[in-house]
Amino acid sequence: MARGNRDFARMPNDTGRPLPSVPARQQLLKRHNLSLVLRQIAASRRPSRAQLAARTGLTKATVSTLVDALMDAQLVVESDPERGLIGRPGSPLSLNPQGPAGLGVEINVDYVSCCVVDLTGAVRCRRTIVGDNRLLRPEVVLRRAVRAASLIWRQAEVAGLTVVGLGVGVPGLVDFDGVLHRAPNLLEWQGIPLAEVVADMLGRPLQSVYCDNEANLAALGERWFGRRDNLQDFVLVSGEIGVGAGIVIGGELFRGVRGLGGELGHVTVDPMGPACSCGGRGCLERVAGQEALLEAAGLPAEAGTAVGGPVASVAELVRRALTGEPTTLLALEKAGTALGIALSAFLNVLDLPTVVLGGFYAELAPWLIGPVTGELHDRVVNHPWSPIEVIVSSLGAEASVRGAAGITIRRIIDDPAASFPEVLALTRT
Ligand SMILES: [Zn+2]
Repeated sequence: MARGNRDFARMPNDTGRPLPSVPARQQLLKRHNLSLVLRQIAASRRPSRAQLAARTGLTKATVSTLVDALMDAQLVVESDPERGLIGRPGSPLSLNPQGPAGLGVEINVDYVSCCVVDLTGAVRCRRTIVGDNRLLRPEVVLRRAVRAASLIWRQAEVAGLTVVGLGVGVPGLVDFDGVLHRAPNLLEWQGIPLAEVVADMLGRPLQSVYCDNEANLAALGERWFGRRDNLQDFVLVSGEIGVGAGIVIGGELFRGVRGLGGELGHVTVDPMGPACSCGGRGCLERVAGQEALLEAAGLPAEAGTAVGGPVASVAELVRRALTGEPTTLLALEKAGTALGIALSAFLNVLDLPTVVLGGFYAELAPWLIGPVTGELHDRVVNHPWSPIEVIVSSLGAEASVRGAAGITIRRIIDDPAASFPEVLALTRT
């Protein structure tokens, strides 16, 4: 049964199944400790039970009971003791790569992408379909996305995984209930509870469904699965046909009061500039969005896509830039400058230390970092006291679909008893 977005910070019995009848305080404590241990296993490099006890402050006996329950629930696996250690070797613990898995679906302007990630965060199956979705009715795009998602779901099952949750990313305004209100580049997509619709079309049981803006999910994908450890406070700028921003503060996504923030692409960089699909004029994405950039470089914008394929004009843009082609370099300089101006306004308000260039900006970073950094240096007033680092997304255009799939995984790790109530009954402490 599909349901709306979940608030991961709460700990409700959101599977709908009755919890075991044990005193509430004891149950909450078990739930907290299961989460503590599983998060520690996820964050550590193959810890032993003794190491977990030392790191969590729990007794070895309690840790062993919790670990046994997590193993019985197929969330954790234990390997043979490692040789060559001083003293009695402990058996290393890790997340179970054959346990529950998350399905991610990204519906973007010029492609649909799906992937399944296992509990360790590894991508086990993926599929991308390139095509201009503005030319198609929403139901046609949805059927295309669901066909691709069903296919990789079956592949994941053959590989021994159990898909338990769905995340959907889309380039538009999505509220806390997972309703897509408006997508400036997909005009017919309005008022759609997208994750629920996709889940119903998939027609298979799921424990949780979630929908969010693609830039928000890209920021989460980068935080969870990117190469940079401990990325806590940053804005990820996602360059696609549109330009979005995912803001993470203190490790948590900041979505605005109604969940609709981060629309960096519609920040004005030129009040007299070209009209935008949002109804405004001179928005950032009309200068630094994928189509605007390709046009400025003299390339056919309609053939562009951030995710590769035989007609990947972004790849052609990179090729031309590498050869030093003057029109391309000028277009990139102009886009980088506009990006830097828009980000300066953002950072003067938000005081964040790190900018991550994501989406197709990751591929173009060698030519964008210079002008972006220059504008930030000139325009952000706190720059002398609080330097701003501009880094490149390690996941690029894949960050969003990885984040969408990762939502399910993080939910399980943060509160395993919410997804698997039986783990409480297995914990006899
Ligand atoms: Zn706009």
